[in-house]
Amino acid sequence: MKIEILGSGGAVVVPRPGFHDKLNDEARAKGVPYQRRGPAVFMHGPDILFDTPEDIVESLNRANIDRVQHCFYSHYHPDHVMGRRVFEQVNWDLRGSVNKLSHVYVPERVRDDMKKLLGSWSHLEYLQSIGVVELHVITPGEAVQINDYTITPLPLAEEYVFAYLVEQDDKRVWIAMDELFGWSPDESVTNLDLAILPSGVCEFHPLTGERRVEADQPVLRTEMRFERTLECIRDMSPRQAVLIHLDEPDGISYDDGLVLSEKLQSEGLPVTFGWDGLVVKV
Ligand SMILES: [Zn+2]
Repeated sequence: MKIEILGSGGAVVVPRPGFHDKLNDEARAKGVPYQRRGPAVFMHGPDILFDTPEDIVESLNRANIDRVQHCFYSHYHPDHVMGRRVFEQVNWDLRGSVNKLSHVYVPERVRDDMKKLLGSWSHLEYLQSIGVVELHVITPGEAVQINDYTITPLPLAEEYVFAYLVEQDDKRVWIAMDELFGWSPDESVTNLDLAILPSGVCEFHPLTGERRVEADQPVLRTEMRFERTLECIRDMSPRQAVLIHLDEPDGISYDDGLVLSEKLQSEGLPVTFGWDGLVVKV
């Protein structure tokens, strides 16, 4: 399997307009891999996209990806869905009459949320009406077979969000795009070749110790913390783990990520802080 991190950022990308510090200015000056776009992961071969942040069109272009055969949504949050028009960009034939088509898979609960929030479901139905997507509503634990890949939606502790287990031959990859709050590893995530998961919130910068988030900021009560993410990885003991959803407030630059990855790996934890364009083969 060949998996590419198209966007390693979270709800707040790097650089963030109007913010001027080393993290943002360096990303503005150098671009990738210092820049972090919205959360998106791509599986080459079956050409499966996980989530569509608002900048997904640019991320696909940057990665020279020509086709999105399939797309799986993790949950309804805006940072994961607001690039839905990507299916018009990649599929709509406005000069002739032969559209391409992406199969879009949405767990039942995510479909229900999309019907109530942000207009996502009506927009996806519109995209289906113009012939650029085919919608598939899936139930938790229901495996989708794509060629020799098996993709299974797995509910997390927050009932509105799903991770995906992707299996091919004897390879097992688990992709959690966001929202691990309250979750603990179970038997579904054993024997993984690769786990892709959100870093969690850094109240303190993991390298410098600098306070990044005020103690009374509500996000600390609703998001998994970075330290807890590492505990989960220890319990899961995947062969590799890649951290994504690195939000601008966490303050982790590409260089910080390299240093932190080396430190964790030297301690026996096979963690890589992701960056835009990182390709992992398993
Ligand atoms: Zn998110």
